[in-house]
Amino acid sequence: MAFYPEPVARLIDALQRLPGIGPKTAQRLTFFLLKRPLEEVRELSSALTAVKERIVYCTTCFNVTDQDPCRICADPARDAAVVCVVEEPNDLLAMERTGEYKGLYHVLLGALSPLDGIGPDDLKVRELLLRLEDGPAREVILATNPNVEGEATALYLAKLLRPLGVRVTRIARGLPVGGDLEYADQVTLTKALEGRREIS
Ligand SMILES: [Zn+2]
Repeated sequence: MAFYPEPVARLIDALQRLPGIGPKTAQRLTFFLLKRPLEEVRELSSALTAVKERIVYCTTCFNVTDQDPCRICADPARDAAVVCVVEEPNDLLAMERTGEYKGLYHVLLGALSPLDGIGPDDLKVRELLLRLEDGPAREVILATNPNVEGEATALYLAKLLRPLGVRVTRIARGLPVGGDLEYADQVTLTKALEGRREIS
């Protein structure tokens, strides 16, 4: 990067750290931004800062929110006796888009992945247990992704939750295997939710 003026090299370097962005894409984005009007780039820059300054994780469900507790946790119309466990905030949004689910959520902020060194302590598992001890739920729906990590996480949680005397269900198959909840269409996701089964 010795060929680039320092600010250009700095932006390429910063963009490269984003997931899915390699050196080539980082360069292309940098030169794209150089061509854009200053106002447009300022807006991008301020959007980046605002998301860090104004967005926090809900201390109850770990959804991303600009108010804590988040709007879902704070909504008295939601059924607090049902908790749907998802991996990421995007999965929660996918569930919300179905318009069918009226319970609360718990976002793990990841899935178990021993190969990547991600264990239960790296996820919001302890927080889920504390939460269920605090206000016991009637049902916990495990809606982790239908891939290896998601299934392993669901099995692990089922084992952990069973002694609490709560009904533990897993969303139905039918979601594309290896896929991500967030990319499932609304009909498929609604069916998976309706067809959920108790894990024994
Ligand atoms: Zn919340």
